[in-house]
Amino acid sequence: MNKDVLVLGAGISGLATAYWLKKEGFNVKILERNDEPGGAMETINENGFLIDFGPNSGLETTPLIAQLAEEIGIKDQMIYANEAANIRYILKNNQLMPLPTSPQAFLKTNLFSAKAKLRLMAEPFIGKSNDGYYQSMSEFVVRRLGQEFLDYAIDPFVSGVFAGDPSKLSVKSAFPKLYRLEEIYGGLIKGTIKGARERKKNKEKSKQSAKMFSFINGMQTFPKAISNQLSDIEYNTQLKKIEKLSKGFKVYYSKNGEEKSIETEILLSTIPAYVLSSLINFDDNLKSHLNDIYYPPVMVLYLGFDKKDINRELDGFGYLIPSKEKKSYLGAIWSSTIFPNRAEQDKASFTLFIGGARSPHLFESDKDKLIDKVLNEFKQVTSISGDPVIMRHKLWNKAIPQYNIGYIEHERYFEQFEKEHKGFFLSGNYRGGISVGDCVKNSKITFNRIVNNV
Ligand SMILES: Cc1cc2nc3c(=O)[nH]c(=O)nc-3n(C[C@H](O)[C@H](O)[C@H](O)COP(=O)(O)OP(=O)(O)OC[C@H]3O[C@@H](n4cnc5c(N)ncnc54)[C@H](O)[C@@H]3O)c2cc1C
Repeated sequence: MNKDVLVLGAGISGLATAYWLKKEGFNVKILERNDEPGGAMETINENGFLIDFGPNSGLETTPLIAQLAEEIGIKDQMIYANEAANIRYILKNNQLMPLPTSPQAFLKTNLFSAKAKLRLMAEPFIGKSNDGYYQSMSEFVVRRLGQEFLDYAIDPFVSGVFAGDPSKLSVKSAFPKLYRLEEIYGGLIKGTIKGARERKKNKEKSKQSAKMFSFINGMQTFPKAISNQLSDIEYNTQLKKIEKLSKGFKVYYSKNGEEKSIETEILLSTIPAYVLSSLINFDDNLKSHLNDIYYPPVMVLYLGFDKKDINRELDGFGYLIPSKEKKSYLGAIWSSTIFPNRAEQDKASFTLFIGGARSPHLFESDKDKLIDKVLNEFKQVTSISGDPVIMRHKLWNKAIPQYNIGYIEHERYFEQFEKEHKGFFLSGNYRGGISVGDCVKNSKITFNRIVNNV
């Protein structure tokens, strides 16, 4: 059996699969465009602040994360979120209101009107819908829970996860577990109760109950430590094209001006869909499916302040902003409240998200003006009087793939493509979920597919 595998991309998806393949006895080589591993997981340290420009945390939805961390020797660096992080705020009428987490708190909250609360109680009596692949998240939520719940809970939640637009995301493709509650149990409330029992049996955790983790030196610790276990990663490579051979594939790339190529019978792509689309010339359908996946731009704005200038308690995860509130940013994570080692004792740090599918147009005009506007809005909402002691930003031009209505057609074609082009495997965050936890789970699935198909 041929055991040489070429992997494209050294993000978490490529690295985790490569690690398991190597452990299984495969010879793995990775080609990566950047000069370091991690992809979206990017951490820097500056002036006593630890800045995560990509994910600030992950949810431990699978035991694979801790197992992997243990095997690669970083389990002792894994940290869990401070309890305060269970409190999440939503902005309504310029006030931060805690999202209720118990039935009692729900009855008392001013976040929802009495009418919306009554409407929620009707949820168990609402019938099932037709195919959720073609139903938007908004349609699903309005039907089951009512408009106000969409506006002040789900809309901000969707922008917190996907930087997405709930009227475009397919409920079944983007939130399969949520949709399953209706499909299998007939409703969200009934399903939450029964689903918890099922998960207990197979030791999986729901996104609501999974613990939030990071690493003492930030999220990039994880991909960096995996990469240390792999001997053959070529950085700073420019992929040119992928050709299909009578047996296997040929990948052309350049490095430092030198033209190179590699032939392989097993090729695993974990690079973003639009990048792979530009490299393939032997399957026009795959090209167009990949190219149709929308990745909106997201700017991450990192701010650090002197604690003495902050005139409110930072007692939560941070807050999300519903579209209806018409602000220039999507929300803010109170980074130094959640995990230790994010800022010095007398400082506090925040990570803000701007743009996404809700407002991609923001980056068409002057970015400095946009940042100024966001900073002013943020200081007002968070009751901060002084100027930031540190301010850094990163614009991800194509940040997160949107599992929009009709996404199932892409997914079906990816399966067909893999059957027709044996040895070519498609992976990465445009398949099976975008969260770090989902990427790790899917990397194991991809590993099994490779082992069982060669
Ligand atoms: C701003 C932001 C915030 C996020 N926040 C969270 C969060 O809080 N929690 C969470 O769970 N998830 C979050 N995510 C999502 C999660 O981080 C990603 O979905 C996940 O890390 C993707 O991993 P991946 O390996 O599939 O893709 P990537 O990390 O994108 O890796 C793909 C790799 O391919 C490389 N590549 C690209 N083009 C080429 C080329 N031409 N040649 C060679 N290599 C190439 C890239 O450099 C990269 O290293 C966030 C994502 C972003 C962008």
